[in-house]
Amino acid sequence: MQAMILNGIGQPLTPVELDGPTERPGGERITITACGVCHSDLHVVDGDYPVSFPRILGHEIVGIHDRMGPVIVYAPWGCRQSDCPQCASGQEMICPNSSEVGLVVDGGYCEEIVVASEDYLVPLGNLDPIQAAPLACGGLTAYRATKKALAHLGHDGARVAVIGAGGLGQYSIQYLSLLSKAEITAVDTSAEKRATAQELGAHRAFTLDELEGPYDAIIDFVGADATLAAASSTVARQGIVVVVGLFGGRVPFGLGAQANEASLTTSIWGTLDELHELIELANAHDLKSPIETLALSQAQEAHDRLRSGAVAGRVVLVPDALA
Ligand SMILES: [Zn+2]
Ligand SMILES: [Zn+2]
Repeated sequence: MQAMILNGIGQPLTPVELDGPTERPGGERITITACGVCHSDLHVVDGDYPVSFPRILGHEIVGIHDRMGPVIVYAPWGCRQSDCPQCASGQEMICPNSSEVGLVVDGGYCEEIVVASEDYLVPLGNLDPIQAAPLACGGLTAYRATKKALAHLGHDGARVAVIGAGGLGQYSIQYLSLLSKAEITAVDTSAEKRATAQELGAHRAFTLDELEGPYDAIIDFVGADATLAAASSTVARQGIVVVVGLFGGRVPFGLGAQANEASLTTSIWGTLDELHELIELANAHDLKSPIETLALSQAQEAHDRLRSGAVAGRVVLVPDALA
């Protein structure tokens, strides 16, 4: 099968022809139809995560299963041991002994994958495979973070701010407008992204300096020093700041540093149950995300475009035979 592999930190993605996917006992074979390219794939190339090489990247996988038909793959596989508190409560994406697809085990920049359990396959319903692929990580990560915010948005006059109106922020704004009555403020440095945010359901769109609290919930899809500082100083009493962005910012925390009883938390990817909920939501509503498609053999070009900021939403790779 066609695959694009990463041979080491900082190396280019290289085309190889493999006999087939890594077998797994009792595994379910998927013929891949689309695989999204995620920003965290670039972090793997940069050596920010411990990975053994060679590795096939890619954790936003959609494909065809013999019996189930079109499926999306839940990729943050945990250890599934009964004495693992995270796995026992269905929070596999924060399992300390994960077998994450495209990181710990080979992923979807190829034509076939064997999935460790049928449980990890969610039927796609009527969704277009290319539109659906980014839901596996980008869409799901935004969904979990948004749910944490929703718990603070039940009252009349609730206000929420979404910092960063790129791919994940655009999903979050759509979830918020479908699932809450809160006033939604989008924050982005780009005028174009602010306009997109308003088309997708944001009531107001600002730059960071214009942010005016208090907000009952703030979702930070950037996570830089400046965005965290803005979130920390505009969160309402008993409100919540949910940090998703990987920019590595830090902020002082303690009594008096934030409004009383405000919560600061992070949010990581999503659970299998949340992926089921999200696919149901996506089937019921027309979620919009600007998606660029490239052939699998152009995976390096996809990385280059993502790295340079040339991509408006998400990039999805399609095996050359299907492209
Ligand atoms: Zn576990
Ligand atoms: Zn991802």
